[in-house]
Amino acid sequence: MRRKIVAGNWKMNLTFPQAKELALRLNTWVHANKPSVEIIIAPTHLYLDQIGKDLKNSKIRVASQNVSAMENGAYTGDVSTEQLQSIGINCSIVGHSERRQYHNEQDKYIGKKITHLYEHGMTPILCIGEKLEDREAGKHFDVVKEQVTVALERQDPDKLKDLIVAYEPVWAIGTGKTATPDQAQEMHDFIRKTIGAEHGISIANTTSILYGGSVNAGNARDLFEQYDIDGALVGGASLNLDDFTTIIKARY
Ligand code: PGA
Repeated sequence: MRRKIVAGNWKMNLTFPQAKELALRLNTWVHANKPSVEIIIAPTHLYLDQIGKDLKNSKIRVASQNVSAMENGAYTGDVSTEQLQSIGINCSIVGHSERRQYHNEQDKYIGKKITHLYEHGMTPILCIGEKLEDREAGKHFDVVKEQVTVALERQDPDKLKDLIVAYEPVWAIGTGKTATPDQAQEMHDFIRKTIGAEHGISIANTTSILYGGSVNAGNARDLFEQYDIDGALVGGASLNLDDFTTIIKARY
């Protein structure tokens, strides 16, 4: 059973009052519409405590956008799994392409974050995806395979059961250029087969693989019709309630 998930990555957007208002309005919508889809939002670390409290009895899960690869200690500016857990956050995005690009995060290091999350009983959303030059050089499958394999090697197989992967081709993030449903399906199928070959078919069959990269209210339905696309990780369009709820409805 693969879970259907629509996740909003708010990135470094919104003031605190704006974020609080968006979270509360989304919660009201969820309460009224009872979508049969798991909904996750990832505000900046700074707002997690309050938004987590505001949505305490809600069906919306609040996730962090990143987590440290280290346990508590002298790591200025970092936030640990234990700290997230202590305010009730139990899910984190890891390996987002913006972390890879601007903070030089590598697959092994991202794998360490996943290990810490699992040690604390938390759920990772592992982001992977090729750059435009990889695709143009015909290397996109090799790149994605390496990302999945290295980040997940040495993870406890029992823990991988609730894994969430987000395939986000870098050339589609924030560019308005989405992968076609066929391109996305082809890669999602490949990712699932790669996980199956490395960790067994039952883990591959319970992994939710989300598509991300310029998902919007107009293109979500066609993407969700693809067999291996279980949901979406939405950036820009998650900041607008109407757009985000239209994407959620497309996933019913
Ligand atoms: P986008 O971002 O929807 O704005 O392209 C997606 C993401 O980076 O998670």
